[in-house]
Amino acid sequence: MLFVSTRGQVGKVSSAHAIKEGLAGDGGLFVPQTFPYLSLDAILGMNALSYEQCAAKILSYFLTDYSAEELGDCAAAAYSPEKFGTDPAPLRKVGEHTDVLELWHGPTMAFKDFALQILPRLMTKAQEKTGSDIRIVILVATSGDTGKAALEGFADVPGTEIIVFYPDDGVSQVQKLQMVTQQGNNTKVFGIRGNFDDAQRGVKDIFADPDLEKELKECGWVFSSANSINWGRLAPQIAYYFKAYSDAVANERIRPGEKIIFSVPTGNFGDILAGYYAKKMGLPVKCFICASNSNNVLTDFINTGVYDKNRVLNKTVSPSMDILVSSNLERLLFDLTGNDAAQVAEWMAQLNAAGKYEVSKDVADQVRDLFFAAWIDERETVDTIGRVHNDFEYLIDPHTAVAWRAAEKYRLLSGDDSYIVVLSTASPYKFCSTVLEGIGKGEGLDEKDPFAAVHRLATETETPVPAQVTALETLPVIHKDVIAAGEMAQNIKKTLGIMQ
Ligand SMILES: *Cc1c(COP(=O)(O)O)cnc(C)c1O
Repeated sequence: MLFVSTRGQVGKVSSAHAIKEGLAGDGGLFVPQTFPYLSLDAILGMNALSYEQCAAKILSYFLTDYSAEELGDCAAAAYSPEKFGTDPAPLRKVGEHTDVLELWHGPTMAFKDFALQILPRLMTKAQEKTGSDIRIVILVATSGDTGKAALEGFADVPGTEIIVFYPDDGVSQVQKLQMVTQQGNNTKVFGIRGNFDDAQRGVKDIFADPDLEKELKECGWVFSSANSINWGRLAPQIAYYFKAYSDAVANERIRPGEKIIFSVPTGNFGDILAGYYAKKMGLPVKCFICASNSNNVLTDFINTGVYDKNRVLNKTVSPSMDILVSSNLERLLFDLTGNDAAQVAEWMAQLNAAGKYEVSKDVADQVRDLFFAAWIDERETVDTIGRVHNDFEYLIDPHTAVAWRAAEKYRLLSGDDSYIVVLSTASPYKFCSTVLEGIGKGEGLDEKDPFAAVHRLATETETPVPAQVTALETLPVIHKDVIAAGEMAQNIKKTLGIMQ
């Protein structure tokens, strides 16, 4: 299978090439030229597969220049019990018609581990396949969870250097600690004075800078991306939608073939897009609930067809969704326009120039049929954590709470009582103080000590502190630099030893 750019200005490439490059040379995103279609029997059959087998199967449809054995090895190493426990993606019955898909049992306690534990392995193999001995610099702009997941995935991977930029003032205490204590001789982490969009724009500008590219190349380096613009990150996420469906049938929550709904807490539109691709591949899905926080650009877009990022970025209690430019939406638009790259390129140019574009009526109608959009404010998010804990004795993080509440709004507005799977994207232990506030135990916390909240949460909810959090208490802080967004390029060069 070959991959094309959503902006149509580069030739078709192999999957290994698409994964190695991350972003297409014309600024577009790589997408598969065609999609496979799975029968219901094949989908239900996934219940008999282990998670890693299911993941390798889904990947094999797209990464056709990798052998089945290579994909099997990559998946087995990525989703091993040491990394993800016995069940990487358990589907929990929580409400009457609502289950929660827990995607935070990986090493960094967020769903991004599903992609970032396997991407470095796929990239190393891609290097072998494309016969290249140039070293890869992974650049990551993170709103919190991607950074740590990428660091954990790439640490000490031969032939790679990983450099992460996070908004210094825009991530939770545990998220920050996870990053600044990162070990590995090829890792570097910078705080940015600015927000996530500043960091993401900085990385995009660096990717688009031909002089810098040339300078690096002369020193044996090439940039790549581990953000969800990389196809190698999206493809592994398709697998858990199939797995969840086959589990729901096996658990007798639904009949085989019944159409279900997924509620997805959304930022960069990567996770929910993977779900859309699963539907396109034959998964019986009625619609997706696109759940946002007060950075509700996507809610407005889905309801009006106008994407307008001209607004202030709010800092919220669900920081991994504090985003105004949802990069992966470009892939959806490409698909809904019937692969009209010229049209997509025009909209993206408008977004770049004016911060705004409006899609055609046909595309807007399709979007509204596929997605129900809702946004949840800070108070509702915190209240939902408390209510779900109270009603179901089940603890959720703020991102999951946004998706849970959006699912409730969908039910209220539509009167539809269909079975809904809420994607739970992070462990509550990544966001202890907000979760404590939600369950009414947030008073008088020592804000300077991140572990005060951790220990209180464990005591109050009688849940064990995850081993990953316990480990942070004793790890030294290694990465202390905080820089301006304008200083990213020079710090990359310093890190790589190209500049003093
Ligand atoms: C990244 C992230 C999201 C948003 O996912 P996208 O793929 O960017 O839409 C939601 N929740 C958590 C916890 C995340 O880390």
